[in-house]
Amino acid sequence: MALLEGKKILVTGVLTEASIAFHVAKFAQEQGAQIVLTSFGRTMKITTAISRRLPQEAPVVELDVSDPAHFEALPDLVREHVSSLDGVLHSIGFAPKGAFDFMNATWEDVAPALQVSAFSLKALAVACQPLMPRGSAVVGLTLDASVAWAGYDWMGVAKAAFESTNRYLARDLGPQGIRCNLVAAGPIRTTAANSIPAFSRFAEWGEHSPLGWDIADPTPAARGCVALFSDWFPATTGEIIHVDGGFHALGG
Ligand code: NAD
Repeated sequence: MALLEGKKILVTGVLTEASIAFHVAKFAQEQGAQIVLTSFGRTMKITTAISRRLPQEAPVVELDVSDPAHFEALPDLVREHVSSLDGVLHSIGFAPKGAFDFMNATWEDVAPALQVSAFSLKALAVACQPLMPRGSAVVGLTLDASVAWAGYDWMGVAKAAFESTNRYLARDLGPQGIRCNLVAAGPIRTTAANSIPAFSRFAEWGEHSPLGWDIADPTPAARGCVALFSDWFPATTGEIIHVDGGFHALGG
């Protein structure tokens, strides 16, 4: 039997074919899942076009995570396509340019980063919760926030909040049988990555990883997400699985 046979999964964050979320949607479909995508504003058209490159074209519903009204509308929009959700992928990150300068950033730079990149995990889970039966899963993507990275700055702080949010969600959704886990991916060249001014510093990641790492390949991170959606992590929640070539395990 395929890993996600019969499961219905809401996938946020498909912007281009390089998006980690695109590969999650693709592998999930290959493993038997039915996919609904989200996008927002002007990117709705792009996501709809990219959706045609999936093994099966998936419907796209609107979700701008900075707009609370969109979360209220989300369950009904999803119900137009599927009656329930066995999985929800959070693959969303954004910070204004000023947030990548730690000492000079203003609250106006930082607030959107925290709202879009961290608080949105809670908001997404709460909005989807009524559609999620026991055994379903929320999965998100982080860049290991246990250390300070050159050039990541307030986005790194937002990721630390995101990782903490995952643990609190695991606490509060566990009694309903909903698992909440993150994949801590190594660096991958995507639109979000290109907005990080010092992203080129991650180029040597592979040289410091026991398994090596290809910055152009979203496949390992996406497969990690698919595994977390499957029934093969039934007792795992509040966890962060490193999918980084083993980079995190070495001290130098
Ligand atoms: P991406 O640019 O393809 O995806 C980011 C997505 O966030 C886009 O689809 C964008 O439309 C969406 N988004 C931004 N603002 C939004 C809003 N207000 N409402 C709804 N959606 C919004 O880049 P990606 O690298 O695939 O990023 C996906 C996730 O993976 C992010 O959380 C990112 O931090 C994380 N991540 C990326 C890397 C990397 O190196 N690329 C490494 C570790 C973790």
